[in-house]
Amino acid sequence: MQQSVWRLQKYPTGIPTDKDIVLHQEPIPDLKEHEIKIKTLYISMDPANRLWIRREGSYIPPFPLGSIMPAITIGEVVESRHPRYQVGQKVQGIFGWQEYIIQHAGPLNEQLPLDNGGIVMIPEPEQGCDLIDNFGLFGVHGMTAYFGITDVGKAQAGDTVLVSAAAGAIGSLVVQIAKNMGCRVIGIAGGPKKCSRVVKEFGADACIDYKHEDIHFRLQELAPQGVNVYFDNVGGEILEAAIDNMARYGRIAFCGAISQYNGTTPASPKNYMQILYRELEVNGFLAFRYAEKMPEAVKVMKQWQSEGRLHMNIECHEGIENLLNVFTKLFISENQGKLVVKI
Ligand code: NAP
Repeated sequence: MQQSVWRLQKYPTGIPTDKDIVLHQEPIPDLKEHEIKIKTLYISMDPANRLWIRREGSYIPPFPLGSIMPAITIGEVVESRHPRYQVGQKVQGIFGWQEYIIQHAGPLNEQLPLDNGGIVMIPEPEQGCDLIDNFGLFGVHGMTAYFGITDVGKAQAGDTVLVSAAAGAIGSLVVQIAKNMGCRVIGIAGGPKKCSRVVKEFGADACIDYKHEDIHFRLQELAPQGVNVYFDNVGGEILEAAIDNMARYGRIAFCGAISQYNGTTPASPKNYMQILYRELEVNGFLAFRYAEKMPEAVKVMKQWQSEGRLHMNIECHEGIENLLNVFTKLFISENQGKLVVKI
C-alpha cells in the first residue's frame, strides 16, 4: 500500500517552496515487534516547524535532509505490536507530514515525553471539547500562552500588557488570559480586520495595526506610562518599538520571533541599551519547560472556557496535498487562528 509523504529536499532560504519540501508516494512498511501504525488525523501547522528545518539549527539541531517534514500530529492507532497501545487509541507526537506513521513505541516500562520521541496517549475528548483542542487550548499553545504571561512575564492585575501577533493562535490566548487576570491589554496585529477581532472578539483594550500605523507613535499614545509586560511573538522592528516604550522594570516574555524565521541574517534590537537604561527583564522561554505543570494551566483555562472567557479559533484545512500552501499562510499573515490540516 502506498502513502503520501512530504520530505525535506533542501533547507529553505526564505518561505519554503515545493523545491524545498517535496511530496512523494511511498510504500508503507510492515510492522515489526514493538512498533505501532498510526493513521494521521490532524497535522498542526506551527511556525516552529520552520525553525526545525533551518540549516544552522535552532533550539534543536536541524532535521537532516531527506527527513519527513516535522510537525506535531494527532492520529489513531490502526495496528499495534506494542502492549501499551491498543487499536483505536488516539495519540499525539512529532511525526510529520505523512498519512501513516510506523513507529517504535518506546520502552515497555516507560512513556517517553512528546519532545523526546514519545507517543503520547490522548484521552477521548470530554463533552464540548474536540480532539483538535489537544493542539490548541489544552496543548502546546495553551501552555505557552498561560505560563508565558503568568510565569515568564509575571503579569499582575493593573499592568499594561502588550502582545504581538495578537490575532494569532498564541497571541489571542495571551490577550484573553491577561484580560482575565485584570490587565490592560494592547494588541499588535496586521491589518484592520485582525485588529478589530483582537478588540471585539478577544477583548483587548486597543490594537495597533503594524502594517498601516506608526507603532512608536501609537504606543506613546496608548501607554504613556509605559508597557509593563511585552509578550513577543514576532521580534524585529516590533520588538524594537516595544523596547522603546517599556516602563522601568518592565518584563519581556520572549516567546518567538516569526519575522526572523525565513531570513538568514537575524535582526538585532538596535536599541538594546534601553534594556539597561530601563532595567528590563528579558526572558526567552520554551513551553516544554512547563510540561509537568500543564494540569495546573488546564484547570484554570477550562474554568475560563466554561465561563465564556477563553476560546481559540481553529482554521482547519483538508488534504495532505495542501500542507505546504497552508503552512506558508503563517508567514504571510493569512491565518486566522490556529492552523490545522485534517488528513
Ligand atoms: P500565529 O500567531 O497563529 O501565526 C503567525 C502570525 O505571525 C501571522 O498570522 C502573522 O500575524 C504574524 N507574522 C508573520 N510574519 C510576520 C512578520 N514578518 N512580522 C510581524 N508579524 C508576522 O502562530 P502561533 O503558532 O501562535 O505562534 C506565534 C509565535 O509563538 C511564533 O513566533 C512561534 O514560533 C512562537 N511559539 C513559541 C513557543 C515557545 O515554546 N516559546 C511555542 C509555540 C509557538 P499578523 O497577520 O498579525 O501579521
